[in-house]
Amino acid sequence: MESPSSTGQSANEALPGTAFDWSIGSVAGTLERMTTETIAGLSCPVPTDLLIGGKWVAASGGDRFDVTDPADGSTLCTVADATADDAHAAIDAAYAALPELAAMPPRRRAEILRTAFEMMTERVEDIALLMVRENGKALADAKAEATYAAEFFRWYAEEAVRIDGNFTTAPAGTNKILVTRQPVGVALLITPWNFPAAMATRKWGPAIAAGCPTILKPAAETPLTALLIADILVEAGLPAGAVNVLPSSKAAPLSETALADFRVRKLSFTGSTKVGQGLLKLAADNVVNASMELGGNAPFLVFADADLEAAVEGAMLAKLRNGGEACTAANRFYVEASVADRFAEMLAGKMGAMTMGRGDDDGVQLGPLVNQATVEKVDRLVTEAISGGARALVGGKRPARDGFFYPATVLVDVSDDADCLTEEIFGPVAPIVTFSTEDEAVRKANDTPFGLVAYLYTGDLGRGLRISERLECGMVGINRGVISDPAAPFGGMKQSGIGREGAHDGLLEFLETKYVAFSP
Ligand code: NAD
Repeated sequence: MESPSSTGQSANEALPGTAFDWSIGSVAGTLERMTTETIAGLSCPVPTDLLIGGKWVAASGGDRFDVTDPADGSTLCTVADATADDAHAAIDAAYAALPELAAMPPRRRAEILRTAFEMMTERVEDIALLMVRENGKALADAKAEATYAAEFFRWYAEEAVRIDGNFTTAPAGTNKILVTRQPVGVALLITPWNFPAAMATRKWGPAIAAGCPTILKPAAETPLTALLIADILVEAGLPAGAVNVLPSSKAAPLSETALADFRVRKLSFTGSTKVGQGLLKLAADNVVNASMELGGNAPFLVFADADLEAAVEGAMLAKLRNGGEACTAANRFYVEASVADRFAEMLAGKMGAMTMGRGDDDGVQLGPLVNQATVEKVDRLVTEAISGGARALVGGKRPARDGFFYPATVLVDVSDDADCLTEEIFGPVAPIVTFSTEDEAVRKANDTPFGLVAYLYTGDLGRGLRISERLECGMVGINRGVISDPAAPFGGMKQSGIGREGAHDGLLEFLETKYVAFSP
């Protein structure tokens, strides 16, 4: 059978009853923009105001806050500082957009997401460089993230038309059971600074696919990337009010306002467990549907039968992607005693050879950390471990230079009670501990309130699968140092979170199930 396009007909002619334009790229967004900033190296200006109801506006209080370049501590630009009043305005706008977005044909929502994917792909270089500027990450990491972030729009463009339902006969034969899915409603999205693009698109993609208008509060450290991608979403054709963005230096009044408003029916948060716990308490009052992607403390297990070269390659990815500032970062290395010295030396050789510097300078593999507080935390964890008996094979000392830098560090002889094994390090530090038996490895790996991801290297796939079942975490990488994939369900157990992002599961987080009983 010929497709509509191959017959020369338009899709609308070919499919009577469809009353919308199927063409990709019907651009709705010609936004009047108040304030933009030119960021060094970018080919386009970056919006720096709030996005509310399809308009770029100043904050109601007129305030702005600084965005800092972590490579030298200088101010990149200022951004409008949203208040509780702005949160009210954004909720009004989002709630007003709900009927149109919910009723929009799934194919149309899919086309908008697909257009946004293509626009992001065209602008990967700009998006990556913007992340280097405001987050500090190395350019290669930033490019990988920009591409990964765009993939969430492509994936959810494909998922938007796969929202299913069910129609059955009740077992007693008395009636029919009709099950449909509807958008959950206005969604408050809160994202961290470590993946400024991907953490936003991982929420926007499924929310738009499901038909939920959103209010995004990006991290104060990295608001620019979210503003640039929001501009793309509007240009891709999202109706006014479907995407609102509220950068703010004072997050609590915004979340308190939003979660106290009954029109906000969804909270999707990515960030630390501590902040997530507070938000869950706020969400409880209005029984807001909550998806929480929280902190991690990933173990990386290496068994003596593993291919050690591959394990070190995997360790470099699991530890140093994003300079160690990842919830999925390997936080603790447990290595079988007979191969521990060799593994540590090989890893120290690779980590010690990394070039540290400004993210977009030639050859740089390790950028600065995001801010002064993060450098101080990493330094504290390393210093305490060393006072407790650990040795640094490489790194271990803050460099004397401007910017928020910390060198790649490998620690051995780390005591079991060191804080760097229990707290998220969020920096390029690899503490290595030994084990002797499979049971000991599993016990140590599970000895944490967190349960996001674990990695294990072994030459025996049977053992890998057996251990992965025993690990108390939402994701396991067997002989792989990277697990993130838009097509896979990402999320944690225990205090690492509730719900999943990515895959079809991520879409379900933004849908309510409705059941209708009727007698024909
Ligand atoms: P954070 O919890 O400090 O901040 C996250 C976001 O919450 C930011 O936008 C921040 O401004 C906002 N926030 C802070 N206090 C708030 C409040 N009272 N009300 C509303 N919003 C508030 O986390 P961070 O330092 O930005 O990010 C690092 C953390 O995020 C790490 O713990 C990391 O593991 C976690 N993380 C988890 C995932 C995951 O998918 N599980 C992914 C990335 C990062």
